Amino acid sequence: MGQKRYTRKDHNESLAVQSLNQFALDKLAQLERVSLRRVLAESARDGLYVERDGRKLLSFSCNDYLNLSHHPAVKAAAQEAITRYGTGAGASRLVTGNHPLLIELEEKLARLKGTEAACVFGSGYLANLGVIATLVGKEDLILIDRLSHACIHAGAQLSGAATLVFDHNDMDHVTSLLKANRGAYPHALLITEGVFSMDGDRAPLKALSALCKAHNSWFMIDDAHGLGVIGDGRGSAAEAGCAADIPLQMGTLSKAAGSYGGYLCASKPIIDLMKTRARTLIYSTGLAPASAAAAIAALDIFEREPELTRMPLLKAQSFTQRLGLPLAQSPIVPLIIGEPEAALEASHLLAEEGFLVTAIRPPTVPQGTARLRIAFSAAHPDAEIERLAGVISTRLGLSHLCPASS
Ligand SMILES: *Cc1c(COP(=O)(O)O)cnc(C)c1O
Repeated sequence: MGQKRYTRKDHNESLAVQSLNQFALDKLAQLERVSLRRVLAESARDGLYVERDGRKLLSFSCNDYLNLSHHPAVKAAAQEAITRYGTGAGASRLVTGNHPLLIELEEKLARLKGTEAACVFGSGYLANLGVIATLVGKEDLILIDRLSHACIHAGAQLSGAATLVFDHNDMDHVTSLLKANRGAYPHALLITEGVFSMDGDRAPLKALSALCKAHNSWFMIDDAHGLGVIGDGRGSAAEAGCAADIPLQMGTLSKAAGSYGGYLCASKPIIDLMKTRARTLIYSTGLAPASAAAAIAALDIFEREPELTRMPLLKAQSFTQRLGLPLAQSPIVPLIIGEPEAALEASHLLAEEGFLVTAIRPPTVPQGTARLRIAFSAAHPDAEIERLAGVISTRLGLSHLCPASS
């Protein structure tokens, strides 16, 4: 490590600055050697297609499941908001950043989710950090599904609570952990995802909510990939028929809603507490007016066009049926490949055929499960889905791939 010394001839850098840059170079070289270095590819996107290296690729790597980020009504709402309220919120919501669109958005979210109230954060990541650390502290217990998103783990760490990780969707494991540990803590918070972002499967929400009831534990779901595409757009809890038993429903406006921002839907006391105490809400600038307006327009579309919200899952299911894979449970279909190099190679091969399917590698997913993550949107042409399935079975040799869990 560090064979190549870092020097910039044009600068007279101090030793401290040199060692800082050397530190970064060494780290990057180390990641490069195991195919885990990442680069941000420029992605000019016009909805379905992404331009990469001068080529237009049909993208199966966007979370814009309903293509609303390019919907005329959503774009017009964002433009109108800029005209009326400007480009930035200007301050934290607790100071002067609480523009009327945020209040309207919270009312709409609460209505869609059937909760008393809602709180909008700057992003889904910020929502999880703020919500988790506001509810539990050092004396408390958190239980998290192993495959939960990085920001749920980060929120748990930030809270300082004792954190136990249960095996993915494993009711026996989580039950035994609760039985053995619940008694030692004043509060316990169980967190899982409605739709798992890298596996596309769903959590057993009914069983988990019953378990939480039985063990006097608080239940929170992150439905980042459920909003807009499951349960006629209302999300995983609504579809499972247990929304009323899930007191903490978090999600993001950056996926099917085509905008940006995160939210928590909950009772009024919980939301009032967030607005008073959640540090990522208090010490961060309010969501920009254009993002809030776009999200409002998107939620209106979920309500008006339930048939549109069903399209991504139907497209994913047509794909899994065509390839003889287990029926898709969400618009996300993973093809587990194994090693990072092989996943990258598969992704390059699909790019040659005109498809953008990004390889997902550790640490985003566990070691040995590097994969192609295929995300379907309402506007994907059926003929192209058919062609993608054909290319995967002929050029990638599907027999070597295995579907993820489930
Ligand atoms: C994307 C995602 C987030 C983060 O949401 P952002 O609004 O993009 O910050 C949180 N949780 C899950 C499960 C996600 O997939």
